[in-house]
Amino acid sequence: MLLRPTSETAMYPMFSLWIRSHADLPLKIFQIVNTFRYETKMTKAFIRVREIHFFEAHTAHESYEDAEAQVKEDIEIAKRFFKRLSLPILFSRRPEWDKFAGAEYSIGIDVLMPSGRSLQVGSVHQYRQNFAKAFDIKYEGLDGKHHYCHQTTYGMSERVLGAVVGIHGDDKGIAIPSSIAPIKVVIVPIIFKGHEEEVMRECRNVEKELKSKGISSIVDDRDKTPGNKFYDWELKGVPIRIEIGPRDIQKGVVTIVARDGIKKEIARDELDKIKKELEEFDERLYKKAEKFLKENIHRIKKMERREGIVEIPWCGKEKCGMKMEEELEMKSLGMPLEKEEINEKCPVCGEKAVTWLRLARSY
Ligand SMILES: [Zn+2]
Repeated sequence: MLLRPTSETAMYPMFSLWIRSHADLPLKIFQIVNTFRYETKMTKAFIRVREIHFFEAHTAHESYEDAEAQVKEDIEIAKRFFKRLSLPILFSRRPEWDKFAGAEYSIGIDVLMPSGRSLQVGSVHQYRQNFAKAFDIKYEGLDGKHHYCHQTTYGMSERVLGAVVGIHGDDKGIAIPSSIAPIKVVIVPIIFKGHEEEVMRECRNVEKELKSKGISSIVDDRDKTPGNKFYDWELKGVPIRIEIGPRDIQKGVVTIVARDGIKKEIARDELDKIKKELEEFDERLYKKAEKFLKENIHRIKKMERREGIVEIPWCGKEKCGMKMEEELEMKSLGMPLEKEEINEKCPVCGEKAVTWLRLARSY
């Protein structure tokens, strides 16, 4: 269980002070909250940390429709945000027994980690007027009457970093999408006797040029072999490495190697292309993770244990959902947001299914 003393509802007494009339709405507040896990369950770097930082958006609206529009916007923002991190995500409407207490409904944002376990990286809650009634958050409408607000919350935590590290990492180390990599390009001089100065000068020039194009880069001039340097930077996940040796200078090219091993030469006077190479690297990370996710979502009609995520026809009854969790030793993620015709039977009770229920072993 989490202790969340200053999160979510702690802000609502203030909402009731700040909101007077319809002109104060919508009210949108962003806050970063840290909170401590007090249970003794083992911690895990990034995924289950002792001190959690939540980044949260809290909103209040005049109508349910406005709040619903906010939820839709949150979903679009999440799609853009996680795409920038090259992370494919799933939105699932959590089942009643797993929604945020007090919410009308909760939408979980999950990723699938290479271990086959899902990891929740964000959530969106629609509260309708539930908290407004509890905290007396009202506004005076155009009709001169007082109405309760409709509220939503949207949030995530540093687990997002855990997802980046876990999903894009490999045996060589981490791989950071260029959108967030502090160093996007590392330049490694390939020194040959008699060419030291020439190679170093060229490396510095390339670094200067890249920086002038807004591409953060660094020359690794340490006294180590190129092989050792490659190893170090792969471990740190720098998206692109540029190798410059006497042969490259002579040919008027630079050799680039992306963190995922794709190697090519580009003309020295076309360094602009690096930007596109960085984007393509991010896209490859996304595609790879997306392929893994798709291959590990299994639609099954009867209760059978599978790795990854399963989707089972479900009648909607809590009892049947619980039974699925218990028998498969998985946790419900919830229902896909996209409405879909389903002509299947719930494998627990045999009644007509109304939706798919997603389940996974989760962190
Ligand atoms: Zn059923």
